[in-house]
Amino acid sequence: MAGLRSLYHESLYDTALVPSYWEESYGARQDHGTMLEGDAECDVAIIGGGYTGLSAALHLARDFGIDVAVLESGPMGWGASGRNGGFNCLPASKMTTNQMIRKYGLDDTKAFWRAQLDGVDLVEELAQSEGFEIDRQGDGNLEVAHRPGMMAELQEAADQMTRLFGIETRTFSAGAFAEIGYRSTEQFGALHMKAGYALNPLKLALGLAGAAERHGVRLHPHSTVTGWRKDGAWHLLETATGCLRAKRVLMATNGFTREGMHKSFDDRLLPVQSNIITTRALSPEELAAHNWQVEEPICNTRNMLFYFRMLKDRRLLFGARGDWTGRPEDGRKMKAWMIKRLGEVFPHWRDVEISHYWRGLVCMSQKLAPSLGRDEADPSLFYSYGYHANGVNTAPWSGRAMARLIAGQEGADAAIPAVMKGTASRFPFAGLRIWYLRAAASWYRWQDDRQLWPRN
Ligand SMILES: Cc1cc2nc3c(=O)[nH]c(=O)nc-3n(C[C@H](O)[C@H](O)[C@H](O)COP(=O)(O)OP(=O)(O)OC[C@H]3O[C@@H](n4cnc5c(N)ncnc54)[C@H](O)[C@@H]3O)c2cc1C
Repeated sequence: MAGLRSLYHESLYDTALVPSYWEESYGARQDHGTMLEGDAECDVAIIGGGYTGLSAALHLARDFGIDVAVLESGPMGWGASGRNGGFNCLPASKMTTNQMIRKYGLDDTKAFWRAQLDGVDLVEELAQSEGFEIDRQGDGNLEVAHRPGMMAELQEAADQMTRLFGIETRTFSAGAFAEIGYRSTEQFGALHMKAGYALNPLKLALGLAGAAERHGVRLHPHSTVTGWRKDGAWHLLETATGCLRAKRVLMATNGFTREGMHKSFDDRLLPVQSNIITTRALSPEELAAHNWQVEEPICNTRNMLFYFRMLKDRRLLFGARGDWTGRPEDGRKMKAWMIKRLGEVFPHWRDVEISHYWRGLVCMSQKLAPSLGRDEADPSLFYSYGYHANGVNTAPWSGRAMARLIAGQEGADAAIPAVMKGTASRFPFAGLRIWYLRAAASWYRWQDDRQLWPRN
């Protein structure tokens, strides 16, 4: 393999533990598995130990008795899965519902949303059946209008969700939401959808790792795949300390996929940074200053959205897009920008101390929806990626869908909605991906402040 390349600075791929609120509040982590050493063999090898890889591994071993090994660059759950916002929300697509219906038709759009709702439920089912905590918080998800004109869109979204997908919704005027939700300079009404909730993402990742291990999966942390060859029907996955032979491989590296890993994936993925800050715990007086009442996770209606939630210990978690380089100094500028924006959205919390800052990579693609399937050129290679920053429900669901497909379960292929099936197309002039992203971000920022026409 001619060396791994990436769109961002190397520091984003440094597998030291991330200084996130989740890591710090988790305490001492149990090390799941051991580094791959020497030669080993398995039926299915999974590259990537996040929700996708761990859920696929768990289901393959538990439901089909298949011999599985997982290779992960860092400790298990090191990627986006162990450090996200913990919004168990939907949908995993950057298409509006109308755009999706125009492209795929109503039935396939409904099938996609059904899968999304199944994903929301699957997370809790797994936590219960496998006996681990996820610290569920709130009931449903909130979307908040960041400008007065956005309520019409939210109302249409609410009507569609109820009419087409059977989701219970409620909308609130700015005044009504100020009474039962919160007050802010960017609160002009809200939509509540009774689907999803907030959770602790690291507990979910490590819960899945522990369950997979108990069902016989071999977990190999600190085992980056740096070489990938075929020897007849076998895949040979090389790490710095060993080589794993496998009959089938699932690529589950999502936003942390490096170019040069495998030619089937080069130029198709668009990793994008997402950043999070958390405040120190807010006092009852500080919470009252914005009349904060809600436990549900919240996204606002900006294209370049802010996402936030009040953590159980009353810290505000506040997330936003990242910078375009991944260089540590640009990350520091991003952190300063986020602190400033937090203060503008919640002026009473302007000077509150920030306890944590961290960042990570989500995965977008030209498809604007997830990509699940079997490689066309090599039927022993499977993939699942591109959850468009919405992987808490989608990645565990996709991992299970891939386990069923790999195991050859009847109906497994048909159970993957058309919207999610198949790989994304390659970007033209793929070396310019970050520039495409920058151009899109400028356009979205401009639109966020004006909203001259509706998004659908
Ligand atoms: C800051 C942030 C906030 C987010 N907030 C939310 C949210 O609130 N709600 C939501 O639904 N989604 C959120 N997301 C997205 C969500 O976390 C992801 O979609 C989801 O975790 C993807 O899971 P995954 O297992 O596919 O990928 P990941 O968890 O990223 O795992 C991929 C793994 O592959 C490993 N890897 C890569 N290359 C190699 C290699 N060569 N060899 C071995 N291992 C390799 C990486 O180390 C990594 O651990 C957020 C993401 C970020 C970064």
